[in-house]
Order: sequence, then C-alpha cells, then structure tokens
Amino acid sequence: MAQETSASAQAETKEFDAVIVGAGFAGMYMLHRLRGLGLTACVFEAGDGVGGTWYWNRYPGARCDVESLEYQYGFSDEIQRDWTWTERYAAQPEILRYQNYVADRLDLRRDIRFSTRVAAATYDERAGLWSVATNRGDRVAARFCIMATGCLSAARVPDFEGIDEFEGPWYHTGDWPKEGVDFSGKRVGVIGTGSSAVQSIPLIAEQAKHLTVFQRTANFTLPAGNRPLPKEEIEKSKATLMQDRRHARTTAGGIICFEYNETPAAEMTPEDRARELNDRWNMGGFAFLGAFGDVMATHEANDYAAEFARAKMREVIEKPEVVDLLLPNDHPIGVKRLCLDTHYLETFNAPHVDLVDVRKAPIERITKKGIVSGGKEYEVDCIVFATGFDAMTGALTSIDIAGRNGAKLSEKWAAGPRTYLGLGSAGFPNLFFITGPGSPSVLSNMIVSIEQHVDWIAECIGRLTEGNIRSIEPTKDAEDVWVEHVNEVASTTLYPQANSWYMGANIPGKPRIFMPYAGGVGVYGEKLAEVAAKDYEGFALGA
Ligand code: FAD
Ligand code: NAP
Repeated sequence: MAQETSASAQAETKEFDAVIVGAGFAGMYMLHRLRGLGLTACVFEAGDGVGGTWYWNRYPGARCDVESLEYQYGFSDEIQRDWTWTERYAAQPEILRYQNYVADRLDLRRDIRFSTRVAAATYDERAGLWSVATNRGDRVAARFCIMATGCLSAARVPDFEGIDEFEGPWYHTGDWPKEGVDFSGKRVGVIGTGSSAVQSIPLIAEQAKHLTVFQRTANFTLPAGNRPLPKEEIEKSKATLMQDRRHARTTAGGIICFEYNETPAAEMTPEDRARELNDRWNMGGFAFLGAFGDVMATHEANDYAAEFARAKMREVIEKPEVVDLLLPNDHPIGVKRLCLDTHYLETFNAPHVDLVDVRKAPIERITKKGIVSGGKEYEVDCIVFATGFDAMTGALTSIDIAGRNGAKLSEKWAAGPRTYLGLGSAGFPNLFFITGPGSPSVLSNMIVSIEQHVDWIAECIGRLTEGNIRSIEPTKDAEDVWVEHVNEVASTTLYPQANSWYMGANIPGKPRIFMPYAGGVGVYGEKLAEVAAKDYEGFALGA
C-alpha cells in the first residue's frame, strides 16, 4: 500500500474546476470521473488517508453487512478483476486495503489534501465561484463544490454530564484509534446496541475481564452467516460483475444476491410464510426482510417476520434475566437498521457480561470511575461509545455553507433537510451532495448509490462545461415537490414508526423527518435519467 501523501499546502487562493470534500468511496470515484472530463479538482479529507467510513471505524469486528462481492466499485472491470475478496462480509482492514488499492491504481492521492477539514464554503455570486476554507488556512476557489462528506461520518458522543471527569480512556466506534485497543484484564462499559455495538461486543467480551453493556433499545439482529469465499464464487462474480451492477441499479436496494418475494404475507399460507422466513433466516443477511412483499409496509406482515426473529433470537439466549431485555418489542423489524451479527446474543450467556437497561433508568452521568444509571454506579476502566452518528445531515451542517445572498444551509435545513433529488438545494448553485438526504443512500447498497450519483453529477458537469452554462441549481418549486414526495413515500412504509437515526431521533433537538428516499434505487434512477434527459428539469440553469 502506498503511503498517503497530500497535495501541497496552498498559501493563496488557488482555483480549480471543482472542490470535493471527503475521500471515502464517494470522493475517490468523483475525483476519478472529474479527471476523466479533463477538469482540475482538489479533494480535502479530514483523515490522513483515503477510505472514509473504513478509515475511521476500526473497532473490533467492523465489517460490511452488504456482501463483499457487491460492496465494491463496479465502474471498472480491470479494477474488480484484479482484486480478490476473502470473506462473504469483508472486515474493515480488508475494505480499507481495497480502497487504498483503488487509490494506487488511479493515482488519486496527488489531488487529495489529507488531515484537512473544510470549515466553510461560500458562494461568490459575482464570480460564480465557491470559496472553500479549511482548518489549516487553505483557501481555494472552484466553480463546483461537491460534498462527498458521508451519511455516517459525524460520530456523536451524547452530552453526558461528567464525561471530562472520567479517569480512564474512552473511545467512539466511529473514531477508533489506529493502533487498536487492548481490553485484556479491563472492566469495559459499552454504551449502545446498534450495528457497531453488535459487531464489537463479542470481540470486546473475548478480551475484557468484565463487560457491562448499557442498552436503551433492543435491536433486531440476525446471524450474518459470514464465511470464507470459495474460489468458484469469486471467479463467477468477477466474470459477471459489470452486468450485475447494471442490474443492481434497477433494483430497490442495489443488491442482487437475493430476490424479494413480492407476494403479500396475507396471500400466503402459514406454512409458506414459515418456510420463506426460515429459508431466509438461514441464508443470513438482509434476505430476511424480503420474505414478503409488504414486510416494510404493513404491521400484519411485519409482525410475522418480527415474531419469527424474536423466537430465533430467544433460542440462543440462556440467562433468563436478560431474555426479555434483549428481545426488541417497541418497533417493527427493519425500521431501524437491521443488525447482522456473529455470536452477539450468545455473548450475554457468559458470566462476565452484564446488560443494563438504560431505557428504564437512563444514564445520569459519567463519574471518575464509571457510569451512573438508576442511581447505581457501574465501575469501569474504559468506556466504548457505540452511540452512532449525526446521520445524513451532520457532516454537511457542521460546515459553514453559505449560498446566494449569504443564506446558510444549516439555517435553511433547521426544520429538516430540503433537497431536490438529494443532489442539491435551492439557493446553492453548483453545490452537489453525493447520497444526500432525499436520495436512497442509506437504504441501499451505498456503493451502488454513490456510483449512481457520481455518474449523474459527472455527466451534468460535463454538459454544463461543454454548453458554457455557468450554473445549475434546483428551483424551489421542484425542491418542494420532491421533499413532499419523499415524505409521502415514507408515509406508505413503517419506517417513520421508530426512533431511528433515519428519523434524526438519536440526536436531541433534531427535527423528526425521515431523511432517505424510500422509493428504491431503480425507481429513483429512472427519475434521475428523466430529469437529465429533459435538460435538467427542475433545475435552473444560469447562462
Ligand atoms: P464516508 O465513507 O463517510 O466518507 C466521507 C469522508 O468525508 C470521511 O472520510 C470524512 O472524514 C470526510 N469529511 C467529512 N466532512 C469533512 C470536512 N468538513 N472536511 C474534510 N473531510 C470531511 N453501507 C453499505 O452499503 N454497506 C455496508 O456494509 C456498510 N457498512 C457500514 C459500516 C459502518 C461501521 C458504517 C459507519 C457505515 C457503513 N455503511 C455501509 C455506510 C457507509 O458509510 C457507506 O457504505 C460508504 O462507505 C460511504 O462512503 P462515502 O464516501 O459517501 O462517505
Ligand atoms: P446506531 O445504530 O445509531 O446505534 C447507536 C446506539 O447507541 C443505539 O443503541 C442507541 O440507542 C444508543 N445510544 C445513543 N445515544 C444514547 C444515549 N444517550 N444513552 C443510551 N444509549 C444511547 O449507531 P451505529 O451502531 O454506529 O450504527 C449506525 C449505522 O452505521 C448502522 O445503522 C449502519 O447503517 C451502519 N453500520 C453498519 C455496520 C455493518 O454491519 N456493516 C456496522 C456498524 C454501523 P437507541 O437505539 O435507543 O437510539
């Protein structure tokens, strides 16, 4: 792996065709496409290497939950053929190696300024340029500003009182130390039971002397069924990946390794429902949510799946005092991101692992020695915050983005994000979001959605440049209609019925809006194509 180098510091304002913020999957591919158009681009990345999610989330057990053979770029046959995945769900180090391999192949690092956080982006209407400022004093100007800042990149530690008094080390799963953490002989407290916790808890428990898990909401989790990938499966995937990816873009979730059963649950016999659920449970992974056509749409169908999942989960939990606590019963299955695990529930069978219900007795404070809940102090030597992210909007609103007339994006979005197609926002010309709120993004295989957006943005920028068109921005009308459509589609699903990060519910004070577009990658892709074919219908083009 080549060492990360960075573009040289810029003392004065330097001009590029485009600035890209972020060097995860999205920023890397965007840079490659802009170079292909013969444009100049400067990428800023807060981390000191490429990778985004997979650079920051180095916690034990971190791995993808979309299968590796699908969770990879699909834009280059050579790149995919020369890379070989080893496991059904690749672990974080392998995904990060893959991203560095792509960065090497495409010689991306020479245009990336690492360890540099973008603090502000201001649109200069007269010049038609974005002026971008960083925490290291760089100033660059560019016609296009592309936010590849990630949906799950703003790690969040809740505002617990007393956190500064804690005498031991603490960590957030989304900002894990590069050198790793040795929990041997330690009493560890883990706060949270979402996907990051579900992946890390079994491995932390293997090392720790004692583990206390603080749970607010029990989650649905099912065995991932991870395994080494046999040679034949890899070869088959390499031979068909390019056509598979074209197909993936027409599906709801950007995934083709399983099919959704479109029959509504009520139209199936009890035996067929049970068989469908059982087969899909045994497949491992998200196939389970495809058991009936209406799992995510009606309580009746959802209850069949949820009840089945709870029964399966119950089978492996041995301590009677934690069974009821570990079984989710306050939300439909799938409306919070389903967790895939490897021996998560079994971990609670061990005598040195305890579960504390912080729904009943919320965490009151952190002390010098531990965590207080329900008036009781749980002494720990270190704390792991598996408490998630200010998802979808956090990375964007933490940048001081000012558009026409100095209007701030964070103020415009104070009551919830407003975008047209998740790609841009009215009043912010030539500003693009990759997998922004209002696009399928986190409800899909993200790499498929990233490529869909990057390809659309690249084509758009290419056409504007060729046609000498100075700017593009959503009209307010088109944006209003899209926001309404996003809400309408969400309201036909069960998604809004949970306190999830999709709804902003994990951040106190954040507006409760279902942020991704639930219409599916395929349907959404047709809309994108139609808009482009109609000369960017819904966008205002500035001559
Ligand atoms: P990111 O990878 O988040 O990259 C954004 C980059 O922007 C970051 O490196 C960040 O440092 C940088 N950045 C942000 N703000 C600034 C700023 N102001 N200045 C400079 N740099 C900035 N999705 C799936 O589809 N399948 C999975 O299996 C899956 N597993 C996941 C596992 C974990 C632990 C997490 C947290 C997420 C997972 N996701 C998964 C979602 C994942 O985020 C996406 O798949 C994908 O990696 C996102 O790529 P990205 O480039 O859009 O964003
Ligand atoms: P998350 O799903 O938001 O989970 C955060 C956990 O912390 C939840 O259990 C939450 O409880 C708890 N929490 C937050 N604030 C708390 C507080 N003040 N007191 C007590 N508990 C608190 O975050 P995540 O696990 O990092 O996952 C985020 C997303 O990243 C996932 O949904 C997924 O999309 C992606 N991801 C994927 C994988 C994978 O398998 N590939 C792994 C990790 C992450 P509540 O539920 O009650 O809010």
